[in-house]
Amino acid sequence: MSDLAVNNYEIINEFLTLKWTNGDESYIPLKKLRENCPCAMCSGETDALGNLHKGLQPALNPASYQLLNLRPVGYYALQPFWGDGHNTGIYRFELLRKLEDSDSEDQ
Ligand SMILES: [Zn+2]
Repeated sequence: MSDLAVNNYEIINEFLTLKWTNGDESYIPLKKLRENCPCAMCSGETDALGNLHKGLQPALNPASYQLLNLRPVGYYALQPFWGDGHNTGIYRFELLRKLEDSDSEDQ
């Protein structure tokens, strides 16, 4: 368990800029951030038998990729508020680091 935390964040054009407590900076494209939304509606839920159920995913439009605001959740996550009203995704810091670190488009 890492104790890395976000010190500061800024929305610059199409990027979310995160400043970590160790001095690192992360740049995450908002589109990528939205497409990796971890909430149950976007990423699906696993039932007791281990089957993944993906609900009806909201149709994405340009407003879906507009980040209006970010709210810290405890000391472990950030909750983005998107232009289309979606705000149920809680992005843990580990996920944010992963979105920044990986260039692969395998999602
Ligand atoms: Zn979502």
